[in-house]
Amino acid sequence: MTQAKIRTRIAPSPTGFLHLGTARTALYSWAYARHFGGEFVLRIEDTDVARSTQDSVNQILDSMHWLGLEYDEGPIYQMQRLERYQQVLDRLIAEGKAYHCYSTPEELEATREAKRSIGEKTLYDGRWRPAPGKVLPTVPDGVQPVIRFCNPLDGEVTWDDLVKGPITISNREIDDLIIARGDGIPTYNFAVVVDDWDMQISHVFRGDEHINNTPWQINIFNALGAQLPQFGHCPVILGDDGQKLSKRRGAVSVTAYEEGGYLPEAMLNYLARLGWSHGDEELFGREQLVAWFDGTHLNKSPAQWDPVKLLWVNSQYIKQADNQRLARLVAHQLEQQAIAMDPVVVENHLPQVCALFKDRCDTTIALAHWAAKFYSDVTPDSAEITKHVTESVNPALKLLAQKLATCIWDKASIAGVIKEVLAAHNLKMPQLAMPVRVLVMGTAQTPSLDWVLELCGREKVIERLGKA
Ligand code: GLU
Repeated sequence: MTQAKIRTRIAPSPTGFLHLGTARTALYSWAYARHFGGEFVLRIEDTDVARSTQDSVNQILDSMHWLGLEYDEGPIYQMQRLERYQQVLDRLIAEGKAYHCYSTPEELEATREAKRSIGEKTLYDGRWRPAPGKVLPTVPDGVQPVIRFCNPLDGEVTWDDLVKGPITISNREIDDLIIARGDGIPTYNFAVVVDDWDMQISHVFRGDEHINNTPWQINIFNALGAQLPQFGHCPVILGDDGQKLSKRRGAVSVTAYEEGGYLPEAMLNYLARLGWSHGDEELFGREQLVAWFDGTHLNKSPAQWDPVKLLWVNSQYIKQADNQRLARLVAHQLEQQAIAMDPVVVENHLPQVCALFKDRCDTTIALAHWAAKFYSDVTPDSAEITKHVTESVNPALKLLAQKLATCIWDKASIAGVIKEVLAAHNLKMPQLAMPVRVLVMGTAQTPSLDWVLELCGREKVIERLGKA
């Protein structure tokens, strides 16, 4: 039987920020659904009550929004579905497919220890698992039982993973999983199955740390008579040190990249390419990705996070970005640096600054670094001053300031004035341009000087030249 509709989901646990691995699986799930005209669901797996926070939910929603991963349903919160899980638990118990287990943590540890000492796998010993003719222990007082799933004792679980190919795990390797805790709250492996079943999820993309959970989940699907989704387990992302990316290893949240001056389309492009390819294509937009992403060409081996490549991708998108949009992003960065920005300037002047500098910037923070020179004080590096602003060039700088005070304030006239000063003092362009750049922009490397001066404005230019 085939699923009527392609439905995918991302199911983050709100116990921290949306990290890059989850963002990438969200992206694949989203693109897969869009490619096939299906639907994409956002589910918040908040059953770990002690560690789930609203702040984390908000960060997840913000990150999804920033990346443009619109979902068709959700966010659906697991904690709002407890009644439904209870219903399914009751059914499994009634059908003899799940049972109450009263083993205390101390008993379980003692069993594990005993098994460890004879070199056996530390699986649950099945003490409370009902069986025909078996006499169960007496129910102890005051112990809140957990519910365990009767995992098949023999046979094996096999599935054809969309990413990794066929995978088989023997049922002897796994034990009777706890599907609800003593407080009645279901565990991940159970809630995820009920949800994927109820939400008619056809394809599950997730990180390969869940491969070991999949046999349990498949057995639960089968026990419920539910149709199995197809599973695709994406390999981990490694840091540039070859270790798994983790909270302790650099910025791994999506929001950190937003704050770090990356454009969402660059992030989307880079994340998609990290673990998937379409020929040699390195730069592609959202529509292109949706057109190409059909679940094939996903890499089986781990991808390596490459910050230098990400910067390159970002710089390509910054070059193409609309100047008004860049201006709004840069204004936000400037305000973070306590440089107040007048909305009129953001609308009219800052876009021109962005246009002039965007070719040399790989983040909007780098762009803001340049833009700051137009809206706050510049302190030239003293070594640059000593090198370029020499005694011999001072008279020329004075003449330039004089002429700039009265010329028409546009690029062409400024260029004309510079030429006149060069001729009057018999200087070559760099002999004058370098000190002017250092005084006005604080550095000897800038784009076209006449343009920079025009944008900086007469008053600031003259004031800064006066510091020679
Ligand atoms: N809440 C799980 C996680 O964040 C979801 C795993 C899954 O997609 O099944 O890892």
